[in-house]
Amino acid sequence: MNLIFVGPQGSGKGTQAKIVAEKKGLCHISTGDLLRGAEGDLKNELDDYMNSGKLVPDELIVKILKERMEKPDCGNGIILDGFPRNSKQAEILDEMLEIDKVIEINIPDKESIRRIEGRMVCIDCGEGYNVETSPMPEKEGLCDKCGGKLIKRDDDTAEAVKKRLEIYHSETEPVLEYYGDKVLSVNGMKGIDNVSNEILEGI
Ligand code: AMP
Repeated sequence: MNLIFVGPQGSGKGTQAKIVAEKKGLCHISTGDLLRGAEGDLKNELDDYMNSGKLVPDELIVKILKERMEKPDCGNGIILDGFPRNSKQAEILDEMLEIDKVIEINIPDKESIRRIEGRMVCIDCGEGYNVETSPMPEKEGLCDKCGGKLIKRDDDTAEAVKKRLEIYHSETEPVLEYYGDKVLSVNGMKGIDNVSNEILEGI
C-alpha cells in the first residue's frame, strides 16, 4: 500500500504518518527530513530555499526522493509525507509509484501558526516537542529521549511560516483535486488518537 499525507504546517501529518507507518509496516519518507539531513554544498544550496519557506526545485527533490525510495526498506509500501507539494511533482510521482490513498489533514491557518510557534526539535536526535500543545518535554529545553538541547527549526520563523502557508494554499491544495476520490479528508483538530483511528479505519 502506498499513501500520501497532505496538510498545512503543524497539522500533525508527520506525527500521523509515523503512527500509520508503524501500524501498517510501511516505510515513512518525509521529504522535509530528507532535505534537513543534507550535508556540505547541497545543504548550503537548500538552506536558502528552506529558511525562507520556499519550495526547493522539483528536479532536486525528485532526485533525492528517488534515491530514498530505492532502499530495501521501501519494499512493503511507502508513506510520502511532504511530497508531492505541487501539480508538477504529482505528475512526476505518477511515473514512479501507484498511489492507493491520499490523506488530507485539515487545520485552520490560525492553529497552524500557534502550533508552529510552540514547535521545538532535539538538536541531536530530531525528536519533536511542542510547548504550545504537546508533547511537552519533561525538563524545559531538553530532550526526554537523549537529553539533547531543544531548538527551533530555522524555517519555523513567523515570516517563513507565512510563506509556507501561502504556498500550501496556492500550490499544494490544488494537488488534492488531481487525486479525486482517492482523497480521505480528516479534521486535524480532533486529537492525535482520534485522527489516527479515523485514518486507520479509512485506508
Ligand atoms: P516540511 O518539513 O515538510 O515542512 O518541509 C520543510 C521544507 O522543505 C519546505 O518548506 C520546503 O522548503 C522543503 N520541502 C519539503 N518537501 C518538499 C517538496 N516536496 N518540494 C519542494 N520542497 C520541499
